[in-house]
Amino acid sequence: MGVDAGDVHDEPRRRLFGSRYVLPRSVVAALEQVFAEPVGGVVVIEHSRYARLHRGMLATTRPNLILLAVSGAAFVADPEFLVHEYFHVLRQWRTAHMTRWRYLVESARRGYWNNRYEREAREFAAGAAEQYRGYLRDPGTVNRQ
Ligand SMILES: [Zn+2]
Repeated sequence: MGVDAGDVHDEPRRRLFGSRYVLPRSVVAALEQVFAEPVGGVVVIEHSRYARLHRGMLATTRPNLILLAVSGAAFVADPEFLVHEYFHVLRQWRTAHMTRWRYLVESARRGYWNNRYEREAREFAAGAAEQYRGYLRDPGTVNRQ
């Protein structure tokens, strides 16, 4: 299941799935400090119509994959958005805390805004965005969490 992001060579697929966006190294380094784990395995796709199809949201995630309706530049320009999506991938998908089925059940029960996966991601991003900005400004900062 899921999208093979390496397979975006033909035009219809490209239009549907967008194209790969490579994050600046400084952004990757700051994210790795915030999450204390490698983020290089996560593929980011920009201008994805597939993401846009999801009720007008800015992004949707899958295991090791972030599909953006917007540009990669807009994504990295918004630390709270960035950290929020990486939280879904690293702390929910990767740990198998979240599955598509559980997410759907939660959403059906509580809606998009109030489902626990979104609440967790929002809470984490609200707390960690400032820390992320600090790491971005000063890459040598020791993780003091
Ligand atoms: Zn979310």
